[in-house]
Amino acid sequence: MDTTREVLNIVVVGHVGHGKSTVIGRLLYDTKSLPEGAIDRVKKIAKEKGKPFEYAYLLDAFEEEQKQGITIDTTQLQFRTNKRDYVIIDAPGHKEFLKNMISGAASAEAALLIIDGNEGIQEQSKRHGYILSLLGIQKAYVLVNKMDLIDYSEEKFNAIKQEMNEFLHGLHVYPLKYIPISAFHGENITMKSDKMPWYKGEPVLEAIDLFEKDKGLEGKPLRFPIQDVYKFDNRRIIAGRIEAGTLHAGDEILISPSNKVTKVKSIEFWADKDKKDSVSAGMSVGITVEDEFFNQRGEFISHIVEGPKTSDIFKVSLFWMGKNDLVKNKEYKLKLATQEVECEIYAINKVIDATTLENIENANQAKTNDVAEVTIKTKRAICFDEFRSNQNTGRFVLVDGYDVCGGGIVTGLVQERQLVSKFFNQDHEIVVSFFDEYYYIFSESNIKKIAANPHSFTTGDVIPTAGITYEYPADFNVVDLKTNLVAKIRKSKLQDITSFGEYQYDFLPFIESQGSYLRIHSAEDFKNFQLDIEKIQQAESVKTAAVANQWFEFMRFRQIRYLTETKSLEIEYQI
Ligand code: GDP
Repeated sequence: MDTTREVLNIVVVGHVGHGKSTVIGRLLYDTKSLPEGAIDRVKKIAKEKGKPFEYAYLLDAFEEEQKQGITIDTTQLQFRTNKRDYVIIDAPGHKEFLKNMISGAASAEAALLIIDGNEGIQEQSKRHGYILSLLGIQKAYVLVNKMDLIDYSEEKFNAIKQEMNEFLHGLHVYPLKYIPISAFHGENITMKSDKMPWYKGEPVLEAIDLFEKDKGLEGKPLRFPIQDVYKFDNRRIIAGRIEAGTLHAGDEILISPSNKVTKVKSIEFWADKDKKDSVSAGMSVGITVEDEFFNQRGEFISHIVEGPKTSDIFKVSLFWMGKNDLVKNKEYKLKLATQEVECEIYAINKVIDATTLENIENANQAKTNDVAEVTIKTKRAICFDEFRSNQNTGRFVLVDGYDVCGGGIVTGLVQERQLVSKFFNQDHEIVVSFFDEYYYIFSESNIKKIAANPHSFTTGDVIPTAGITYEYPADFNVVDLKTNLVAKIRKSKLQDITSFGEYQYDFLPFIESQGSYLRIHSAEDFKNFQLDIEKIQQAESVKTAAVANQWFEFMRFRQIRYLTETKSLEIEYQI
């Protein structure tokens, strides 16, 4: 393959028998990409066996030739058009395809989904649609095949198109084109078919040239995961491979997740002749930076804008390959780029049986070969991207003991950087503002509330019971009147969240979710308080302020500190 030409990796999927091999055979044949003499050999064999010639057999012949050469996991069939080269990623089955895509062994940028116009949507058409959706492959054409069997009918084509669109849109897959073809008869493959004059679009070979290639990795936001830091004649050289983007000497950079900002001092080279001012995706490099913080393996270097996502809890789609089941709450080791961290399977939101596409919501385990939508919680915050925006920094593996037991792709954050603090578990969520700090600002004669470092706490997490302007006890209950939930804080940790009605009074202090102490000293008080709250929530005539004045005591665990002006507040926050 000519290295200066553009290459597009394309995957062809479809229900068995719908014409996948015939389409591929046709594409190879029509672009003269078959090995010398293959077509004659296949014709001869077919004749000897008394079978009609099939384009699909060409594929077998081609695969056979490839197998005799080098051993490769995925068969890579290649063909070219005037515009560029194509590699058809054709895995033996959907499981293998998924596994290869997730592990990085194969990377399809675009897809052709073949559907038999006579049979319509079948089980595998759905499964493949799901896989495209899972992998975020957004460049897809649907080829409605075997149009010869449905009289090249526009009406029937439109009916399939509608049916397929309804299904795929439900999965957030939006095909760019629908092309009516007959792979067997070569209609609308290389040339526009005169059997279907009603079709105004391009034939397949022209249409695939219209797939826009993704921006090259060099043009994407910079991702430079640190592999190692070497001390070298008093300099600290940060070494690693640039996974995406371009880095210039002098660039301002962000180091995540520690959130440090510095500048690139130099890009290091062994020999002067290799000297460059910039390095980009795919290169292994060493750099020095101006502020020599204690950088370490695993951290990501990016530019200040468009940095990676940083979190200790995120959603993934996981392809499970382990001998043992994937188990909720179990700990595994997660490896993503150069990061290695202990993690917990926080929730198995959905298990999808890859054969039947059946879903099981909120499962406790998944079996080998299952695809599971999982929430993962890592011991410390790590950096990553969503797979759909960067495949290299959006995929990871899970290790159980010494074995790789699963491969996954990051599908999203559980929550973006937030403005409010929250307590949450699988079933409930409470927005709390009782970690906020209160200041009286002299210059403004005003009281200001500042949300202090918003964060989400889940069961088992230690919460900051002592701030600058508050100090709560180690054991207490948080009542949220908006949701009627109670969060139990025990030994300064969030122990549980239950509904207000279910709560058994236990003499521990109650604090309302904005930080006011509640004057509840007995089971009777608790009951009366509940009744008052019910009244407020049901009838508007009850005076909320009167109830609050009776029960709330804002200053019990809080104080308001004095500040000269807001500026000093900012300084105080930087400390
Ligand atoms: P695959 O399992 O998806 O790879 O399907 P194949 O390519 O092996 O095709 C299955 C059968 O459908 C073969 O017998 C093909 O000859 C036949 N076939 C493929 N394309 C067409 C078509 O356009 N028209 C008709 N009538 N038959 C087709």
